[in-house]
Amino acid sequence: MINESVATASTPVRQIRDEIMRRQRFLLTSHARPDGDSIGSQLAMAFALQALGKQVRIVNADPAPEHYQEFPGMDRIEISVATSADVDAVIVMECSDLTRTGVTGLEDQFLINIDHHAGNRMYGAINWHDESAAACGEMVFDVIRELGVPLTLEIATHIYLAILTDTGSFHHSNITPRTFDICRQTVEAGVNPATMARRVFDSNSFGKLKLIGALLDSMELVDHGRLAVLYMDDAMLHACNCTNNDTEGLINLPLTAREIQAVVFFKVGPQAEVRVSMRSKYDVDVRQVAAAFGGGGHKNAAGFTIAGSLDQVRPRIVELLVGAIAQGLESRP
Ligand code: 5GP
Ligand code: MN
Repeated sequence: MINESVATASTPVRQIRDEIMRRQRFLLTSHARPDGDSIGSQLAMAFALQALGKQVRIVNADPAPEHYQEFPGMDRIEISVATSADVDAVIVMECSDLTRTGVTGLEDQFLINIDHHAGNRMYGAINWHDESAAACGEMVFDVIRELGVPLTLEIATHIYLAILTDTGSFHHSNITPRTFDICRQTVEAGVNPATMARRVFDSNSFGKLKLIGALLDSMELVDHGRLAVLYMDDAMLHACNCTNNDTEGLINLPLTAREIQAVVFFKVGPQAEVRVSMRSKYDVDVRQVAAAFGGGGHKNAAGFTIAGSLDQVRPRIVELLVGAIAQGLESRP
């Protein structure tokens, strides 16, 4: 009985390979406000499908931050919040829920769901959900290997980009030997880690440096300095000549202080809505906090959007974060 099920069992990655091989026209997508993992995963997949002679479109709800624009294939991403594409399959990467794409018109398509976020809703015809992956790019790497596509410099670059950014530049606690094994293969394929790090992390505009100053200037410390609270609104962005696209990575700055165990970043929108991003060290679990407000993410990086004014939403969020910090510190050896 057991042998029989093993013999007939097909792993999700093989199922995905089979479905890709038998189809021709693909649409790739990922979450709104894309990050390095969503960009890297999509473009690595796009180059691999193209190598197999497939037709590929990439549709994202929002443009990627400026420092990603020079990476190969970026000009192929179509920005749209709706699509009625006539394709054989849609590959959704990095999305625990289809609505995370911010793109409508995908619901009735043949969906292949590849994701590493906790709480994935398994919305696809095929679902591969692996929370142990440090980046969705690790999973895309496995699919590409399974497809038998060689690791070209373009593909390797995007896989490395996905891992470099989603591990918070190798800071998060979900890094495994597999992470480095994949990175090793990308470096063997020609990726230069120093160049990648400079391009991603050291390409700030002067405006962004100004914004960093303004953010840190208004930072509050709570819970004996264990929690940092950052605030931003459109006026602050404009004053520094920045846009929403300049905010990636800013949240990590307070974590460079030894005492700070978690950071919450409140972006106050023009409507009565607050965008909340959180980061943490070691076992401080901010995903739990995000989940309490209908959001998600990972233990060390999570987020959500909440209706209400900052004054209304802030106390409860800070309270839950202080609790998460106490819990995380307790389990620290
Ligand atoms: P960020 O703070 O960079 O926007 O997001 C950090 C992590 O949390 C990412 O893995 C992101 O996908 C996840 N995340 C952020 N916002 C949301 C949300 O509204 N819903 C869910 N499910 N996950 C989110
Ligand atoms: Mn990711």
